[in-house]
Amino acid sequence: MAHIIGVDFGTTYSCIAHLEKGIPQVIPNLDGLPTTPSVVSFMESGDKLIGNLALRQAVTNPSNTISAIKRIMGKKFSAKDVEEIKKKMPYSLAEAKNGDIVINVESKRISPQEISAMIFSYLKECAESFFGEEVTEAVITVPANFNDHQRKATKDAAKIAGLKVARVINEPTAASLAYGYETEKNVTVAVYDLGGGTFDISLLEINDGVFHVLATNGISYLGGEDFDNRIVEWILEEFKEETKIDLSQDKLALQRIKESAEKAKRALSFSEESDIHLPFIYSDKSCAKHLIKTLTRPTLEKLTNDLVLKTLPYIEETLEEGKLKPENIDDVILVGGQTRMPLIKHMISDFFGKKPVENINPDEIVAMGAAVQSGILKGKTKESLILLDVTPLSLGVETENDTFFKLIEKNTTIPTKRTKAFTTVYHNQQRVQVHVLQGESQKASENTSLAKFDLVGIEPSPSGVPQINVSFEIDASGLAKVSAKDIDSGRIRRIEINPSSGLTEDEIDEIMAKETKKGSS
Ligand code: AMP
Repeated sequence: MAHIIGVDFGTTYSCIAHLEKGIPQVIPNLDGLPTTPSVVSFMESGDKLIGNLALRQAVTNPSNTISAIKRIMGKKFSAKDVEEIKKKMPYSLAEAKNGDIVINVESKRISPQEISAMIFSYLKECAESFFGEEVTEAVITVPANFNDHQRKATKDAAKIAGLKVARVINEPTAASLAYGYETEKNVTVAVYDLGGGTFDISLLEINDGVFHVLATNGISYLGGEDFDNRIVEWILEEFKEETKIDLSQDKLALQRIKESAEKAKRALSFSEESDIHLPFIYSDKSCAKHLIKTLTRPTLEKLTNDLVLKTLPYIEETLEEGKLKPENIDDVILVGGQTRMPLIKHMISDFFGKKPVENINPDEIVAMGAAVQSGILKGKTKESLILLDVTPLSLGVETENDTFFKLIEKNTTIPTKRTKAFTTVYHNQQRVQVHVLQGESQKASENTSLAKFDLVGIEPSPSGVPQINVSFEIDASGLAKVSAKDIDSGRIRRIEINPSSGLTEDEIDEIMAKETKKGSS
């Protein structure tokens, strides 16, 4: 039977896994390593490098080396957090015609979906080399708080890479699947997931093979990268104070500092201090300067304490939504490389009154959970399992005075469906516009616009008489679908939500056709 791989497409690292005789196993990459840097580097020769090779190019080729692409998947160029990325990333971003983001590489403009597709393609290749046969299907994971645009963009990236997406699942849910599957315990768990770019907290009940997500919450712009940036800012300031030289506009120096900052941060999870040593970080005709600093764990904690504390109110809110107290949580699972930081472990232990579960590999557990989900879909797990996940964001429509009318509340178990009847406000009105939104604000304009669509061809009649039932669905992958039915005519209009953002089906087909041509030439 064809393999369905589990793919954890991470901000900084990605990991793939499969179910081997009912047991989740990580699939090594072509270098034999369990995780692959989510990095693509475009060379002057026209070649591209992916993963470890690309990461090694980052210092010498910073503006054509694309990392942390996940942070801009499905986002608008004008989004507030994209402003930050524009300032911090060495590569350049531009606005697409529909307001989405494109990346300027050499003389081309490439969508985030295409860059991500290159990483998915590499992962597919690793799996194919591992199995010795073609792999065409995957379960992919996304941060729990990803909205519809972000989910669709990730799914499209996999599709461009030639992977049919059997299911999209939330990263913390995947982690709990792997955990519950292996331990076979009936427990209430909290999954605290802080990776390279996003933070999620999810609460689940695991009972006799039923995985029931009670509530989920998160921040789509908080992760290890922010911790690295704090160290980079600290190094820049210290260096400027000592030498009066500002390195903040020097792309090459910045890339070197960023890499050292990340390395020092990792080291400080296991030691009390770490040296940062960057010879010839600056040179001009008259002098050369070296950067030599020691970063201590207390300094790192001071620099990043607020980032860690920022996650606390989200945990509190999620417990409230799940009608739980910290003492009701049996096991706390830490996911994402950033949770190796001792400060985070201490904060979690203090908050829940118990130590997080040990011996979990926070870099691999999400991919392993995706592999378990692939086993559920194929009936290949040790025992039959049921996953009841929730939607992380409310779905609704805009009504008068910029009001958001929620139809599906956040934390509703998916798949789910709600129907709302729309009518006309003028006599003989033949067209009604519906604006579909996702978010929690009461103001429509403060939520994410998913789509605007028109219900057309309404029979001329007095205002308020026509009745058009619109169904809002969220499927098991957390993706929204809207369909409309005019009661009078019985006509059904099915509308896929995608017009506000993302690639159209035609654009995806075009990219895939181009890739196929390149591959065969
Ligand atoms: P993920 O997206 O789950 O792969 O998480 C990657 C993030 O975890 C990156 O920001 C890494 O710098 C960070 N990370 C990995 N190992 C450690 C460590 N030992 N201590 C602190 N952060 C780490």
